Amino acid sequence: MNSVTVRVPAKVNLQLAVGPLRDDGYHDLVNVFHAVSLFDEVTAAAETGMSVRVEGESADQVPEDDDNLAIRAAVALARHAGRSYGVSLAIRKAIPVAGGMAGGSADAAAALVACNELWGLGLPLEDLMEIAADLGSDVPFALLGGTAVGTGRGERLTPLEAAGPFHWVFALADGGLSTAKVYAECDRIRAEEGLPVAEPRAAGALLAALRDGDAKALGAELTNDLQRAALRLRPSLAATLEAGRGHGALGALVSGSGPTCAFLAASAAHAGELAGALRGAGVAREVLTAHGPVPGPAVV
Ligand code: ATP
Repeated sequence: MNSVTVRVPAKVNLQLAVGPLRDDGYHDLVNVFHAVSLFDEVTAAAETGMSVRVEGESADQVPEDDDNLAIRAAVALARHAGRSYGVSLAIRKAIPVAGGMAGGSADAAAALVACNELWGLGLPLEDLMEIAADLGSDVPFALLGGTAVGTGRGERLTPLEAAGPFHWVFALADGGLSTAKVYAECDRIRAEEGLPVAEPRAAGALLAALRDGDAKALGAELTNDLQRAALRLRPSLAATLEAGRGHGALGALVSGSGPTCAFLAASAAHAGELAGALRGAGVAREVLTAHGPVPGPAVV
């Protein structure tokens, strides 16, 4: 086999509950991940060394060296196999970069699947999941897709039943937000307030809404503990969220660490109307529609 192409979806967090800051600098999370139909494509081709090229959405903001998460994934997989494999990776990005939709993690997951195939390793998903957990807390979900609740740092996953399809509108912002800076801002806000921070728990009503495919109930239950921090770092997002609510979104929230904003619509037609209204309001660099849940990375 000379090359393998894998298509991999973005995620939106339906609930992101952030527990108190731990001594090791991390937070315990409850993270309800939902894979949506915005896809990056990663092509792995046989080569002696390791290299990566990136094109598409905000490609200029993605490193084309060993810092690229897809290359790091390929290196980790070769190490796991105990061989010095090479690969040339070509990434076509559609997932916004540093947008809170785990695009880098998605590319890492796609690279694991593509290289596993290209190198004929035949490793089972469980092995890839272990490698994924070492690469970053969002990478295991990126391998799984669908809808799942993540605990710990987000990497301990339980798949959830979700009826769907749910229809989404995403408002992309100019420039990204650093996940680390958003967490730091969240800690700062909490320190200023001096209130006790609860241990994170999955919201029962949200899980029920997912199971029942009840978009209205789901919209009312969307929460993100990082939202206040993202809004403090990027105050213009408040107007974006408000515009979506004003145009009938069933729910509106910042996706993960932002700055992408996610809006839940009642149907595909409603998502199209909402996207048009958001474009007209001039509150986003670009507006996209998608549906979820969708399966994880797939060879195309
Ligand atoms: P998350 O939602 O998991 O917090 P994010 O969607 O906010 O992540 P990413 O798009 O994954 O952010 O990018 C985070 C950083 O990782 C960027 O600054 C980018 O330069 C770097 N990066 C490394 N490899 C990649 C990649 N393949 N695609 C996108 N970003 C990458």
